[in-house]
Amino acid sequence: MEYVNCNLCGSSEYKIIHKGLKDEEGTDLKKRYASSSNTIGNDQIVQCKNCGLKYVNPRLMDDEIVNAYSEGSDELFVSQVRGRELTFSKALKKIEKYSSKGNILDIGTAGGSFLKVAKDKGWEVHGVEPNKWLCEWGKKNYGINIKQGTIFDNDFKKESFDVVTLWDVLEHVTDPKKTLEESNKLLKQEGLLVVNYPDIGSLVSRLMGKRWIFLLSVHLYYFDKKTIRKMLEKTGFEVIKMKKHFQSLSLWYLVYRMKAYNKFLYRLGNKIVNTLHLNNFLIPYWLGQTLVIAKKK
Ligand SMILES: [Zn+2]
Repeated sequence: MEYVNCNLCGSSEYKIIHKGLKDEEGTDLKKRYASSSNTIGNDQIVQCKNCGLKYVNPRLMDDEIVNAYSEGSDELFVSQVRGRELTFSKALKKIEKYSSKGNILDIGTAGGSFLKVAKDKGWEVHGVEPNKWLCEWGKKNYGINIKQGTIFDNDFKKESFDVVTLWDVLEHVTDPKKTLEESNKLLKQEGLLVVNYPDIGSLVSRLMGKRWIFLLSVHLYYFDKKTIRKMLEKTGFEVIKMKKHFQSLSLWYLVYRMKAYNKFLYRLGNKIVNTLHLNNFLIPYWLGQTLVIAKKK
């Protein structure tokens, strides 16, 4: 484990806001860092005394985290593919209000569901994903070429993309600031950056407290509207839109997620869903996910 300074302002001064919960799967890193990890946060979350950013501290070493993401398979992700495609086709329509069709880079693209949707609509698509298994899955099922690695391993041309997207990614990376700076370099002048993140300042997060569904072991950073805006402004962007972002998941998956919180409700839910054949029923849900559209300054 290592202690890290605030990623937004560099300060080492913080106060503890969550002491962390019991972690049943924490020892298996590959499982913990799977794209659809279900592990409830067991880590200590702190808040920077200077700028207010909330983040996990101390945490595992950077290379341990990246390595854990690279290995392992993620069949659970596959079970959510239809829901993801639906969510992304709605999101793409929002993006198309602000950008004409061109080329998109999706960072941390998982199996490439967003790129599949964008490709079908005539965009030129590129993706980066650390997990080898998901890269292969995307190639095989969508015919999309996904580069395996992090955004720092890329050889893309500077200022070559119209849109860069980070779907549920920024809260996972070890260095969001550097990730956004790199995204900025790859974007054309006035290019669009699209980020979706779970907002810890949202009413639902404040009401749920320690039970908030996005307090997961894989999340290293917890942004709110103020800190995400500061982070984007600091890395060369101007925020043009912030709004609620509904995502769709199959009912089966939502019931599965319940397992980590309440075994009885999980078993009951599972039984109902199976009896009524509702496994693939898609439901939109909102628990604080926020979509930010920003422009390169
Ligand atoms: Zn700070």
